[in-house]
Amino acid sequence: MLPVQGNIYMLAGAGGNITVQTGKDGILLVDSGLEAMQPLVLAEIRKLSRAPILYIVNTHMHADHVGGNAGFSEFKGSLAGDANNNARVEGDPAVKIIGHENVLNRMTTPTGKETPPPQFGLPVDEYATPFKDLRFNGEGIVIYHEPKAHTDGDSIVFFRGSDVISTGDIFTPGGYPFIDLEHGGGINGEIDALDHILDLTIPGKTQEGGTYVIPGHGRICDEADVVEFRDMVVIIRDRIRTMMKKDMTLEQIKAVRPTLDYDTEYIKSNSFVKADQFVEAIYKSLKSSDSPGK
Ligand SMILES: [Zn+2]
Repeated sequence: MLPVQGNIYMLAGAGGNITVQTGKDGILLVDSGLEAMQPLVLAEIRKLSRAPILYIVNTHMHADHVGGNAGFSEFKGSLAGDANNNARVEGDPAVKIIGHENVLNRMTTPTGKETPPPQFGLPVDEYATPFKDLRFNGEGIVIYHEPKAHTDGDSIVFFRGSDVISTGDIFTPGGYPFIDLEHGGGINGEIDALDHILDLTIPGKTQEGGTYVIPGHGRICDEADVVEFRDMVVIIRDRIRTMMKKDMTLEQIKAVRPTLDYDTEYIKSNSFVKADQFVEAIYKSLKSSDSPGK
């Protein structure tokens, strides 16, 4: 568990990064990690605080970000049982799971490739507006919908008092972003979302620090890291768009390797998104968009 800034901590290694906000009101999580990791995640949270976990905000519907929802929602045992690290005991209020309505829709209409929806752990507090806000542990928290980016149900979470933003998988330093076309993602929405994150961040006096950014996967970042990532995405998108305007096919574009100068930084042996996959996602996204020449 890494302290980030203000009320905010980050827990890595349980699937997607988990943001933990603690204070007098209780605990709020952004994302809940993989289902199998939930007991370990809870044990780590309990080292920090024994307060009730009252909110989970899901940044999107992928299993490495929502898998722990069910475990955090179940009531188990008594107060004595809490010593055994149960998430919830009699008397605790129910956990509120917040997500964009498209997260709920995706989780309740499996396509056959996905696991069936869990009994517990669905967003009960879904929103369909451009943003939703709440006040918890003495700070304002704004949850913004970022349309058609990594998926069609992406949220970023801005902790205004602590000055920290959790981005979900819109931002993945050290790896190319996964544009999940099957679940409504798109390259232009991805860039819009990165630009929006940059609108909200303010650098520190020495270009380090200032607003901290918790990515979907990877290390704690600041505004400069998001700028570098956004510029990379824009440059590669523009290269592919230029080639598409010359009527090059996907195979021809892949052969040119439009990501080559970035591959050292963004491709590791265990990278989730390979260079060719990123190129293909951009190509297909531009091809299917209403204004590919935009
Ligand atoms: Zn994801």
